[in-house]
Amino acid sequence: MKTKNLYAKPIEEQYLTKAKKGPGKGLSILTREAPGHTIFEHNSIVYDLTYAVDFICPIKTPVKAGLYGEVFDTKNDVTKSWDKITEPPTSIMRPEEQDGNFVVIKHPGDEFSIYSHLSEVSVRKGQKVHTGDIIGYSGNSGWSIEPHLHFMVFKFLKDYDASRGLKSLEVRWK
Ligand SMILES: [Zn+2]
Repeated sequence: MKTKNLYAKPIEEQYLTKAKKGPGKGLSILTREAPGHTIFEHNSIVYDLTYAVDFICPIKTPVKAGLYGEVFDTKNDVTKSWDKITEPPTSIMRPEEQDGNFVVIKHPGDEFSIYSHLSEVSVRKGQKVHTGDIIGYSGNSGWSIEPHLHFMVFKFLKDYDASRGLKSLEVRWK
C-alpha cells in the first residue's frame, strides 16, 4: 500500500554517502536491501517494515520532517549502539532501544513517520512541525550497523499502539 500523503526527503542529497557495510554496501539509499526491513512476528503481533528506507549519512546530519504534523513520540536517552550485532531483533519500537533515539510524527490520514538511530532529538512530544523543519540529527544509536537515518511511514494496526503491530507504507515522494 502506498502513502496517501507526499513526503519530502528527510536528508538533503548533499549529505548522502555510500554504505560501507551490509547487503546494500556501495549504495547511498537502501530500501529492501537493508537488514531488518522485513516482516517480524512477535507474540503473534506483526511488524511489517518492508518499505522502510535507510539514508546513509554521517553522524550529526540534519534530519527534516518529511511532512507537517504533530510529534507523537520521541526517545532521546539511548547511548548504546549495536554496531556489532548481525542478528535482526525479534520486534521493533518496543522493546526499547532498537530504534535508538527516534522521533515519530503523526500526519493527516493516520499516517506516521519515524526517524530512527538519531544522535540528537530537537523536538518534544506534542510539538507541531512544518514540512522540512529540523527535528534532530542523524546518528548510530540503537540497532544500527553504521551511521544512517532509518525512515519509515507506517500505519498502526490498532489504537495507535506499536505493541499491537504496524504496517509500513510505500512512500510517495514529493
Ligand atoms: Zn533501516
